[in-house]
Amino acid sequence: MAGAVLVVAVFGLLSTLTPAQGQVRPIAQTASPKAGPGARPAAPPKPPPPDCARAKCLALTFDDGPAESTAELLDILAARKVRATFFIVGENAAKHPDLVRRELEAGHEIADHSYTHADLGRASQKEIMAELTRTQDAIRRASGVTPVLLRPPYGSTSERLTKITRELGMAQVLWTVDPLDWEHRDTAYVERRVLEAVRPGYIVLMHDIHPTSVRAVPKIIDRLAAEGYVFVTVPELFGGRLTPGKEYVQRNSGDPQGLP
Ligand SMILES: [Zn+2]
Repeated sequence: MAGAVLVVAVFGLLSTLTPAQGQVRPIAQTASPKAGPGARPAAPPKPPPPDCARAKCLALTFDDGPAESTAELLDILAARKVRATFFIVGENAAKHPDLVRRELEAGHEIADHSYTHADLGRASQKEIMAELTRTQDAIRRASGVTPVLLRPPYGSTSERLTKITRELGMAQVLWTVDPLDWEHRDTAYVERRVLEAVRPGYIVLMHDIHPTSVRAVPKIIDRLAAEGYVFVTVPELFGGRLTPGKEYVQRNSGDPQGLP
């Protein structure tokens, strides 16, 4: 009896419940602060996304990768705790599944940009289905995730493509700011074009396959963060509600945004 009283006294410190004798052991195990040697550290909890109806939200998006320069970009984003959206070309996902996985593990949104960078607006039903399903499969194989966003290459879309994306449960994402970084392989030019053009609620298009573009990202983020911008993924920009088959260019263009 004295032993039982002692046990209750000790474990009473760990729990506000008064344990019955038969429950003492499980409660003590649950309360133990020591993890086993094989225990994996828990992933840090994600901060809640900002309310883009009030905050100066901006979505940085990167197309055509992954490629070697994507690794450098992931380091840049991680150092600044910035998350972005990657529109992945399926054949590059098949070449660099490790980078697709890294993008996902860092909390970025991973999305579909066709398998061969095809002009989907001019493609047949059969070609569209092959481009989309092959990319979805390659990204799923690399990361376990099936994308719900599509950016048609060149922004080229069609009624046929819209109907197919609706059936596949995918929304189409275009952009508001295009610094033409594929044409101007010039870091200072890309920085200037983006910094001049951004407004709250915009979607910025860049290409992580060009090292000159990747090197523009630190200054773009640091400058805009100092102006109060917060960087979100495309779904976060729209409050997590995107409708399959619809096209998204920027957050509610007519509404006041970015309250002081
Ligand atoms: Zn592209």
